[in-house]
Amino acid sequence: MENDSTSEDIDLSLNHIALLILQLLKAHSTGLDIDEIKSLLPNGADQMHLDRRLRSLRKYYHLPGKQEGSRYVYTLGARKTAVTDSGAISGKLRAEALNLAKGRCQMCGKTVSEDGVKLQIDHKIPQDWGGLTLIENLWAICEQCNNGKRNHFKSFDAEKMASILKFDTVHQRIAHLLKMHMGEPVDSNIIEFVANATERQEDWHKRLRDLRYPVIGLQITSGRYKTEQGFTRSTYTLHNWRDLPPDHQKLIRDWEKPAKRAALKRLLGIV
Ligand SMILES: [Zn+2]
Repeated sequence: MENDSTSEDIDLSLNHIALLILQLLKAHSTGLDIDEIKSLLPNGADQMHLDRRLRSLRKYYHLPGKQEGSRYVYTLGARKTAVTDSGAISGKLRAEALNLAKGRCQMCGKTVSEDGVKLQIDHKIPQDWGGLTLIENLWAICEQCNNGKRNHFKSFDAEKMASILKFDTVHQRIAHLLKMHMGEPVDSNIIEFVANATERQEDWHKRLRDLRYPVIGLQITSGRYKTEQGFTRSTYTLHNWRDLPPDHQKLIRDWEKPAKRAALKRLLGIV
């Protein structure tokens, strides 16, 4: 169905904290600084990643900010894009993406000047996986990387990948990606991609290890193989499934605190 998506579709794809922030900004047209946003969010809302929530909101809305004395105030601007995104990359976006790449493939690092590669503008998250035509989702990569990526991504079910990428936390996205391939090794590069798809610089190794904590209870083994080109790649295989509890991030943080771990161990019956 074309041209049938409404603004609500976009809003529904936002994390609930991002949605609350959206509502706050709608209600305060003169803008709010970060401390005001924090104080207006309900108690117990996960306030640790407000910068990320703002970033995810920024995918869909312009959030013009201004310095007012010592305060940096966010206001709600126009919606950035319709979800009925044709995928066409305008000349302006193309130029912007090329400018950010500075003549270097953003995947392998080869350069136009020294390696003679040709750069192509590509949707980082493919469109049929839900990726939008926004500068945040565009990058310049060389033809070889682009072909390699396309071939690799073809082996994944686009609809399932789109649903995985909608999960709010990196833990959920990694867990559901592995679940989709239960009992089969999954390449670390696709795990990294899914982890970093909506939030940059995630330490996905750490997130994957977290899933093995007894409080989460996923059994994940690792392996290695050599590619045809002789590169060593690591893989991860999931062997069981348990739904991640809604408060999994808190459980993981608690497990990492010795005092709380003791209590959690008693709760889980681990002596
Ligand atoms: Zn490349």
